[in-house]
Amino acid sequence: MTDFTGKNVLVIGGSRGIGAAIVRRFAHDGAKVAFSYAGSADAAAALSAETGAEAIRSNAAERDAVIELVRNRGKLDVLVVNAGTFVPGDALEIEPDAIDAMIDINIRAPYHAAVEAARRMEEGGRIIVIGSVNGDRMPFAGAAAYAMTKSALQGMARGLARDFGPRGITVNIVQPGPTDTDMNPGNGPMSGFMHEFMAIKRHATGDEIAGMVVYLAGPEAGIVTGALHTIDGGFGA
Ligand code: NDP
Repeated sequence: MTDFTGKNVLVIGGSRGIGAAIVRRFAHDGAKVAFSYAGSADAAAALSAETGAEAIRSNAAERDAVIELVRNRGKLDVLVVNAGTFVPGDALEIEPDAIDAMIDINIRAPYHAAVEAARRMEEGGRIIVIGSVNGDRMPFAGAAAYAMTKSALQGMARGLARDFGPRGITVNIVQPGPTDTDMNPGNGPMSGFMHEFMAIKRHATGDEIAGMVVYLAGPEAGIVTGALHTIDGGFGA
């Protein structure tokens, strides 16, 4: 456990899955946590009641809403951008609008949220974005655009680390491999196929990903920035 008492944490996309695990962990470790969600009002309300975290309905696909969400949090200590979507399929068949909507959520939201957060962070601020091992390795067809969005975050983190480093603010990407959530159930039809690429042949848990996030947010990680932190059971090895 890391003590985050007195720290102000915002998780963008925290109602379910990895985001909910991150909310639980920060709340458990004493932080004042707020999280956003888009559609899952019941899950958000249940998580809020369980953890004491504040749930805020805000669509990460809308740039101005993202900026306003961050601005309204005041002096943030930790920003985690977890919201993401996965639009798989034949690249020749997927609707262009579906790809662009994924780009809005997976790339534009993290960038604008990070910049807005840095405007009001003090020395020691932490910006953490949930990418994917698919930013490094895309070993099957049907996910080129998703991989593209996650690779884009890598360049963003490297650049923003330079921009904000002089102020002691770190910017990092956590890159999960297959993780047991609604997006990618550990017992789903594709899980055996994914495990073939892994050294440890199981899905990660949200709690395992949250553990990496709190490390990066904690006092021992003040010199860790502009980096990619892959936690994937060897998927990308
Ligand atoms: P889930 O689909 O299980 O949960 C997604 C979460 O993000 C939900 O809380 C959802 O809220 C929120 N969200 C999605 N779209 C929006 C939006 N437009 N605005 C606000 N919130 C939004 O996904 P995971 O937990 O599996 O994935 C979380 C992150 O981890 C994503 O960035 C994903 O790409 C990444 N990842 C996941 C892997 C996996 O195997 N699961 C592997 C590698 C990376 P709501 O339901 O309220 O809309």
